[in-house]
Amino acid sequence: MKTVTRRAYIVSFFAASLHAATDGTSSLRGKLRPGEKPMLATSDGRLIGLSGDSPTMQVLNDKRLAGVDFEVVGRFQGTDRFLVDPIHKKSMFVHKQGKPLMISYWCDVCAIRTYAPGICMCCQEETALDLN
Ligand SMILES: [Zn+2]
Repeated sequence: MKTVTRRAYIVSFFAASLHAATDGTSSLRGKLRPGEKPMLATSDGRLIGLSGDSPTMQVLNDKRLAGVDFEVVGRFQGTDRFLVDPIHKKSMFVHKQGKPLMISYWCDVCAIRTYAPGICMCCQEETALDLN
């Protein structure tokens, strides 16, 4: 019985790595340096420039995320540039206490959630960064 379980695990592991190889996506983790030209400082000392669609760039320009343990999913464009997958694919995470947290923005007044920082579309108040 134990052998069967182990084999199932190995098969699913290979299936997962095959999937990663065929669609070309990878993930990158490090300390975020937000800005108009956001960078990720990896633990092995590299500085990778990040780019993405407009809401993704707005998140990457959010000063509240300075220095957080950050992970992006997408693909490398050369050795020092990384293109983050589109915002709807939920490709950015903040790691806290060993857990990947989704990044969103929340207006407490209107109970409206958005995926890019800025003012609330309803009451025009600044939305709060919400990690969960
Ligand atoms: Zn609002």
